Amino acid sequence: MSNTLTIALSKGRIFDETLPLLEKANIIPAEDIHKSRKLIFDTNHDNIKLVVLRATDVATYVEHGVADFGVAGKDVLMEASTKNLYELVDLKIAKCRLMTAGVVGEALPARRLKVASKFTKTAKAYFAEQGIQADVIKLYGAMELAPIMGLADLIVDIVDTGNTLKANGLEPRDFIADISSRLVVNKAAYKTKYAQIEPIIEMLRRAVDNNEDK
Ligand code: AMP
Repeated sequence: MSNTLTIALSKGRIFDETLPLLEKANIIPAEDIHKSRKLIFDTNHDNIKLVVLRATDVATYVEHGVADFGVAGKDVLMEASTKNLYELVDLKIAKCRLMTAGVVGEALPARRLKVASKFTKTAKAYFAEQGIQADVIKLYGAMELAPIMGLADLIVDIVDTGNTLKANGLEPRDFIADISSRLVVNKAAYKTKYAQIEPIIEMLRRAVDNNEDK
């Protein structure tokens, strides 16, 4: 069994906030990831590598054990297959909310709702739980357009400041879930590489606590 540890990250907001946490756990990329088009990076440890993936693929790589652990948003994890994962640490970064949103001031029609979202599994579960009949339409981006163009009555999307909704004539309606980034570990790797993984997790936990105290 190889003793190389592979950590999966995604570019963007999560990445920018995860790097300082990894640094506090003394895991530092050997080069500036922002300036490189590479996808695999060495670190200051011979046996620790970073791979940079699409956010939705982080869970897949860790689920299949190709990456030992990774950082992914709760929004992505709620959509993913996670039976081979442990969600071990709430990193409390990239915080936002998953919400429903609709056209400002527009009442919902008295029929089965049409809902557009990238988060179809979560959206279906939410409306089912609320006892609301809804057809969920999968979109891959620009969800704000759907209610304006008449594709959907509501969207289910990530809201941070609410500025994106507002700029598109939409308003937040119902809260679905608090979202933040989570450290996920492949279950088999957690057992076989426990001695390597556990100290890193402990350092990350401490880094999160320090961030919170500030
Ligand atoms: P805002 O205009 O501040 O409400 O931001 C909304 C948009 O920013 C969303 O449509 C998301 O695409 C993106 N966004 C905000 N926060 C996050 C986050 N923590 N993770 C991923 N995407 C986010």
